Amino acid sequence: MDMDATVSMEKGAASAPFYLSQGDECDVFEAAHRNGLPVLLKGPTGCGKTRFVAHMAARLGRKLYTVACHDDLAAADLIGRYLLKGGETVWVDGPLTRAVREGAICYLDEVVEARKDVTVVLHPLTDDRRTLPIDRTGEELMAAPGFMLVASYNPGYQNILKTLKPSTRQRFLSLEFDFPPADLETEVVCEESGLDHGRTASLVRLAGKLRALKGQDLEEGVSTRLVVYAATLIAQGMPVGRAIEAAMIEPLTDDEDVKRGLLDLVTAVFG
Ligand code: ADP
Repeated sequence: MDMDATVSMEKGAASAPFYLSQGDECDVFEAAHRNGLPVLLKGPTGCGKTRFVAHMAARLGRKLYTVACHDDLAAADLIGRYLLKGGETVWVDGPLTRAVREGAICYLDEVVEARKDVTVVLHPLTDDRRTLPIDRTGEELMAAPGFMLVASYNPGYQNILKTLKPSTRQRFLSLEFDFPPADLETEVVCEESGLDHGRTASLVRLAGKLRALKGQDLEEGVSTRLVVYAATLIAQGMPVGRAIEAAMIEPLTDDEDVKRGLLDLVTAVFG
């Protein structure tokens, strides 16, 4: 697997990316970091989990290694492997090993997607041992001060085959995320897109109506990410109807009848 395709690394920037908190999640995260405890973020896609981690890493002055997990991601992708370089075999640390050595934050996005051997690796890191055994090199790394493991998962996507085992989830502090209440979501979308408050509030009202259809006509409600996309297009001059269709309707369904029903909701909100 090409590691660079799934891993992104950000330095602990001086100014933290914008994040509007919904409660005391920043305090809990800070306390977890101070005590070296791992944190699990639960919640639907596009509700601000990744932004939250980027914000907290910057606030805490920690480098962040983000890994987007997928069903082919194996422990070696996180730990590292021997690679051939100019005729020589050299060991190359994976993102988790780098974070453990450097005292950085490692964020495993959608951790249940990863292969089973990944959870085995996480166990000694998520209890008071705070160690990472690297079988291939015979090393047993002690996590440097400041190291923190953060993982996210979307309980809505769970099925019997892909669920986080109690033995794994009981190693993490857990924070529940959801779409923010309308006034906060409007603030987020205004800030992210630059669209005026009035039109943004209407988009957020529409998002609320679309989310109410989850489980009936729609598998997933519309994410804050998609509302930001719609607002960004409108702020740049795209007609409202076209922007909503592209950003808030088409991504939700392929069913023509359902789409027509959703467009009726748009008319109800925007006239
Ligand atoms: P997730 O990781 O939960 O899938 P993201 O963190 O990528 O979602 O959020 C998607 C987008 O929504 C972000 O890029 C940001 O524009 C916006 N967003 C959502 N919630 C917030 C928030 N509380 N503060 C700032 N931006 C937010």
